[in-house]
Amino acid sequence: MPIDERGTNDIISFVVRRMTCQHCGESYGADDVKVALDDGVQRVLMAICPNCGTGQQITAYDQPPYHQLVPVVRVDVSPITEADVIAWRHFLASFHGDLSDLLLAMHDV
Ligand SMILES: [Zn+2]
Repeated sequence: MPIDERGTNDIISFVVRRMTCQHCGESYGADDVKVALDDGVQRVLMAICPNCGTGQQITAYDQPPYHQLVPVVRVDVSPITEADVIAWRHFLASFHGDLSDLLLAMHDV
């Protein structure tokens, strides 16, 4: 079965957005994740950490949102509250800088 390019891009994007190196916690870039096997039943990817070089095998048995992914990805997203919005509003009202400064400031919070 030929590799489905759209499905391949979907799973690579998912890994880049949701998974990090199990050794050092670094995020993956799209170029760090390659499809090693796609037999139509499972899609096996290999992600190589850009920071420490540790490889991680990821196996997907289904399509987005990938409930049958190994290793399991737990998405812990709590709902945004009104207090969160108010806190961000105050923070952004007094913030001066560009996007890089904003990302650095968020990293320190
Ligand atoms: Zn790493």
